[in-house]
Amino acid sequence: MEHSEARLAAAPASKQGEETGKTGFDGRAAARKLLDISEEWRDTESKKNAVTLLRCLCEMTAESPAQGNSGFTNQELAKCLVRGGARASVWGVDSHGKIVDSDSARKAVTSAWKDLQELWVRKSPGVEERFRDAGWTCFPRPDSEIGGGRSNPTKYVIRLDAISEPDDTPEHQASALNPLAVRYYTEDLRVRRGAGAGLIKGFPISGWRAVVAGALIFVVVALMAIAAWAALASIAQASTTGQAVAVVLVSVLGGGLSWWVLGPLEKLSRNRVALAPFWMQRATSGWDDRLLELRPDFARGLNRLYLIHYSASCPICSSPVHVAAGGREFYGRLVGRCAAAPSEHVFSFDHVTRTGLPLRRHSHL
Ligand SMILES: [Zn+2]
Repeated sequence: MEHSEARLAAAPASKQGEETGKTGFDGRAAARKLLDISEEWRDTESKKNAVTLLRCLCEMTAESPAQGNSGFTNQELAKCLVRGGARASVWGVDSHGKIVDSDSARKAVTSAWKDLQELWVRKSPGVEERFRDAGWTCFPRPDSEIGGGRSNPTKYVIRLDAISEPDDTPEHQASALNPLAVRYYTEDLRVRRGAGAGLIKGFPISGWRAVVAGALIFVVVALMAIAAWAALASIAQASTTGQAVAVVLVSVLGGGLSWWVLGPLEKLSRNRVALAPFWMQRATSGWDDRLLELRPDFARGLNRLYLIHYSASCPICSSPVHVAAGGREFYGRLVGRCAAAPSEHVFSFDHVTRTGLPLRRHSHL
């Protein structure tokens, strides 16, 4: 679909639909919706300038006249950022909101733009999902047109890209009809180390990597078997009860520790999705809701391993829903638990359709 032809699908008479109808201009409506979506990134993201830059670009696009919006220069963006509370000297703006140092403005915007592009790689799947759910056939993307020389400066714009594939699976339709269904949206990941960073883009598992992973699991299982045998042998030879108890305690601790580290990988191979091991979780979130997911890459005939975090909102009380272990009640499953009522507002979690239905009957009442 051509960008200029991109427009709302007629089907759902959603809030977003009405909003778009008023403006009559998709770019502006999309920018407004992206402003809503990015609201919470201001708290969750460490690179604040990247988020503010995106929000400035959205604000200016939303307020721009319907025709002739060919983008904004770094100076216009710098002024907007300072109006929004950024430190004026960094952005080359004086106390009256005028550009006094065009070099600083250009450098600051270029640097924040670089961070924004990294941020966008992690955020765009979730943005696309939200626009698709709202009935759009396109979704926005911050883009730049590199200029050359004074008369032709680099322009920053919001572009509309066609949404990749319609999500009209029966599960999705069923959950769209159910007011108590949950939609899980792909959220960002904050991984700092190299190995973890590779997981964001998907880590292909095939060839020598599969062999290494298999060998590693074999070695660990073999070591555990030897340890168990040694423990049993020691118990048999233990002269006092105290010694026997000590050996049992050590074996239980050792086994528990190994399971704690390796359990997620075993669950991942069985269910194709699992809670990520503790060392991949965010230390500060309070919820261990990062997941490991295996997704088939049909084009290349292999599986890709992703480290993913989903966000959702509780249809009963609007609190955030976190993906968590099912516990004894929903053994072996992952479920969505509402932060306000983790044991009552419980939903299923389907990582393929990214939908969930209430698991407690009385929630319907
Ligand atoms: Zn709730």
